[in-house]
Amino acid sequence: MGTYSVAYGQKCHCFLYTLYFSVIINYTSKIIMRVSNLFTKTSKTPPADEVAKNAQLLIQAGYIYKEMAGVYTYLPLGKIVLDKIIQIIREEMNAIGGNEISLTALQAKDTWEASGRWDDKVMDVWFKTRLANGSEVGLAPTHEEPLTKLMKDFIKSYRDLPAYPYQFQIKFRNELRSKSGLMRGREFWMKDLYSFSPDRESHDIFYEKAAQAYEKVYQRLGIGDITYKTFASGGSFSKYSHEFQTISEVGEDKVYIHEAKRIAINEEVYNDEVLNDLGIEKSELIEKKAVEVGNIFTLGTKFSDALELNYATEDGSTHPVFMGSYGIGPSRIMGLLAEYFADDKGLVWPENIAPYKVYLISIGGEEAKAMSDDIYKVLTDVGVEVLYDDRDVRAGQKFADSELMGIPYSLTVSDRLLETGNFELCQRKNGEKKLLTQDQLLATLS
Ligand code: ATP
Ligand code: MG
Repeated sequence: MGTYSVAYGQKCHCFLYTLYFSVIINYTSKIIMRVSNLFTKTSKTPPADEVAKNAQLLIQAGYIYKEMAGVYTYLPLGKIVLDKIIQIIREEMNAIGGNEISLTALQAKDTWEASGRWDDKVMDVWFKTRLANGSEVGLAPTHEEPLTKLMKDFIKSYRDLPAYPYQFQIKFRNELRSKSGLMRGREFWMKDLYSFSPDRESHDIFYEKAAQAYEKVYQRLGIGDITYKTFASGGSFSKYSHEFQTISEVGEDKVYIHEAKRIAINEEVYNDEVLNDLGIEKSELIEKKAVEVGNIFTLGTKFSDALELNYATEDGSTHPVFMGSYGIGPSRIMGLLAEYFADDKGLVWPENIAPYKVYLISIGGEEAKAMSDDIYKVLTDVGVEVLYDDRDVRAGQKFADSELMGIPYSLTVSDRLLETGNFELCQRKNGEKKLLTQDQLLATLS
């Protein structure tokens, strides 16, 4: 069904395409769920072998499972949250002309030898292995080389430019230390977009557009106010690259923030020259710890030169393609959000990231159960995402699980409430409780 709709959508106007696409996504993300049907369980105590708060909370609440240090499985609730983060990024990448693809994780040695990055001294995070015939292959830590090589099949002339392929993929990096839970994985999710432009001028225009799309992503993820476009070290083709750094006590990076200009400087380029370039004074900056949630980089012709990705201009001369790379870490962001939106009772997801909007709690006898079944159907029919705790366990456990999981609302149906014809709706983030009739409930939630 999904395939049919997408194919049909492609024939339509771009706007319709987006509409069809979001309908399909919304449809698939609304997985109706009863707790009795969920194979995972919450735990009363945080895991003993985990030091990062984000991983402790997410494991305890049944969102992720630790395979080994820096390697995590996404369980049903965690998978929904990760998908919601990914969908926000996807929408913003499509809005700037991105074409979604999925590159391979297994990488050929010669592709990377062409750029010099097969060497472990140049790229020190490689996981390498061998095929049955003995030849060496690597697990992709990033994708500049294979994509540049692939684009040689499609970029021949100026008419084939620009191109903005991107993907969501698990990257493999043999990180030295992995003690920050989802924030530094040895395998982790990355969105990586690569821009292929005819020249620096058109590259610069897209680079700025991408930076703005990133701002929108962080705004939608609820961390816009604490995320700063940060000047970081560049390469041969640009003096600076830009990171997007989110202020956090557990951040591994140090940045210097200029609040009025909403920018920051990474410690690695914090010197008189950058202050001069940006026209700011040391005294205007505040030092903070931060987490790098994204990174945009002008690659120039570094990879197109190495892998000979050239195009013919209108006058017939040949030029290397001018490239850029644009990364975001969806799994790092999931860890950051888990840690940022939390209190002593557990997770506190923002509504657009939460796996479900409502946690339905049925307390009491048959009547309350019948009413719960009924309101579950009414709410899901109008598109409200409900996780229905239909288990035969103490009410206290249901409330505790609802809080630990960080579902934005808990909705209680009980024999006592039924006598008054009301439901009790409690907001997770502030504990505010309201008694509502069914009509009022529907008006509030849908
Ligand atoms: P860092 O400086 O934190 O090591 P990086 O500069 O190597 O990251 P990039 O190669 O630019 O990161 O990757 C793009 C994005 O992927 C980063 O901005 C970050 O959000 C995310 N990311 C990078 N490494 C990891 C990791 N080990 N675990 C989770 N997310 C990561
Ligand atoms: Mg970095």
